[in-house]
Amino acid sequence: METYPTEMTVTAPCANCGSHVSVPLPIQLELIHADFIAKWPASRLEDTMCGSCGAVWPLGEMPCVYWGDGWAALTLDGPRTGIEILTQIANWMPVHRFGSAGSPFIVRVFDSLKDLGYVLKHPECSVFREDLKGRVTRHWDDEVLALIDISDAALEGRVEWLSYVILAGVVQDYPEFFFISQMRNALELTALASGDESLPISADGASTGLDEYNQTVKALEPHRPVSELDSYHIWYDAPLDENTERPIEGSVTRLIRQSPPNIDLCKVWLRILVAGAFLRHELTKRKLPATQRAKEWLCEEKLRARWPHLAVAERTKLGAYFQELTGRELKDVYGLDSRV
Ligand SMILES: [Zn+2]
Repeated sequence: METYPTEMTVTAPCANCGSHVSVPLPIQLELIHADFIAKWPASRLEDTMCGSCGAVWPLGEMPCVYWGDGWAALTLDGPRTGIEILTQIANWMPVHRFGSAGSPFIVRVFDSLKDLGYVLKHPECSVFREDLKGRVTRHWDDEVLALIDISDAALEGRVEWLSYVILAGVVQDYPEFFFISQMRNALELTALASGDESLPISADGASTGLDEYNQTVKALEPHRPVSELDSYHIWYDAPLDENTERPIEGSVTRLIRQSPPNIDLCKVWLRILVAGAFLRHELTKRKLPATQRAKEWLCEEKLRARWPHLAVAERTKLGAYFQELTGRELKDVYGLDSRV
């Protein structure tokens, strides 16, 4: 992991007047600065201004660490990946600064000082929140939601084991999913719901969902990203305008989102399609109404849209994967031919 020096001073000429400026990196802000930050950028905060000409950010925007009441914040200086942000937190926000032991260390990450200022000024405003630890690996938003939806439908249809198998199959192929908190919670919930009977589809033929889940935890847990931040809750928060409930004016998204490779996305979509078909089959067998197909249809469309951009080798791999999952040809089911 890349390390950031814990304390550092940056010295350079002010971009506006050229006079010599020294700025701490990161800029440290305390509770007593809350009123100033709430008025930002109209307020004067010493370290964010040039001492000679008063220009804001004389050396360019700097990351700020704010030690508030019950939580701390980090504001970003520009586009950053999830791992870069977590590394900054690990280096700049030591546990001992959080005060009382036992309570969780809450770090809220904001795109800018302006966003943090808005939250300090409007503590009741809504925020769009993401668990930043789930952003360390390549991200899978739509895919996670679609899988959880299908799995929920299986739970509702009282096919609990299927609900677990749908999620566990994906995690087995792509352990990244395990580190997305929504996915992990859903996996645990479905494992518990799947009960004491061994799974009809089980690796060794005699495990319950919970047995398998516990094995997965044991196998994957040691590989969790940035384990030194285990006792931290880290949220990426974008405040929403109090009146309109939309992102505040001028707000930018600085979290760099990394997409999985084409082939991995396609494989997950195929899994979603198969899971949907399997679920419908199970529900029909029990004379229960089948689930709505909107999510699957979307995946099917995405798959079709990507297909022409895949190399022949990738298509062949996907064909083999589909065959492994369903025993059928991708060409026969979706008309997708690896050679065309
Ligand atoms: Zn200046």
